[in-house]
Amino acid sequence: MSNRTIQLTDELYDYLLNVSVREPEILRRLREQTLLMPEADLEIAPEQGQLMALMLRLMSAKRVLEIGTFTGYSSLAMALALPTDGELVTCDLSEEWTAIARKYWQEAGVEDRITLCLGPALDTLDRLLAEGRRDSFDFAFIDADKENDLVYFERCMKLVRTGGLIVVDNVLWSGRVADPKVDDADTASIRVFNRALLEDERIDLSLVPIADGLTLARKR
Ligand code: CA
Repeated sequence: MSNRTIQLTDELYDYLLNVSVREPEILRRLREQTLLMPEADLEIAPEQGQLMALMLRLMSAKRVLEIGTFTGYSSLAMALALPTDGELVTCDLSEEWTAIARKYWQEAGVEDRITLCLGPALDTLDRLLAEGRRDSFDFAFIDADKENDLVYFERCMKLVRTGGLIVVDNVLWSGRVADPKVDDADTASIRVFNRALLEDERIDLSLVPIADGLTLARKR
């Protein structure tokens, strides 16, 4: 037994997947296709997608904002957890990556719940604010360029309602955040972000060591 977070060996991680992940077949196919791409590391883990879907159901979430679509695994996992009149707005820069996403959203029959906004995410978030969408989202998932984590987070604090959840990916950054020898711009940004949230009295906070580290911030 342990009162600190357990270390996952390959064997234990496989066990965790085997006894807990109920990945729908369409998500599995999308994940396997994406794993063949050179950018495969940008995809979230299946147990993480399942956790995020569970959180949406716990909250009875209807409106979700995502920053960083990539090939659409997280948006599909979340859209499948929304009611039929739910809405997911997702932002990305890449036509190529999101073409794969669209294909799977259509096949899953959830494309009418998803609005893809191609272009710089900050432009999309500012447009949503200008359109009166302040306090209108239940949940936001930030998983894009890490140097902008804090900027995206501040926009999400405006767009998400009180009691809503902002979830941020890659906050442990393969362990580099805790390695004093590493000091590139992304790692430095994530360190600043993590420290800023610890001191942020506007939120309730938990950093969950699932996949590459997932921060949960509930807007007070
Ligand atoms: Ca990620």
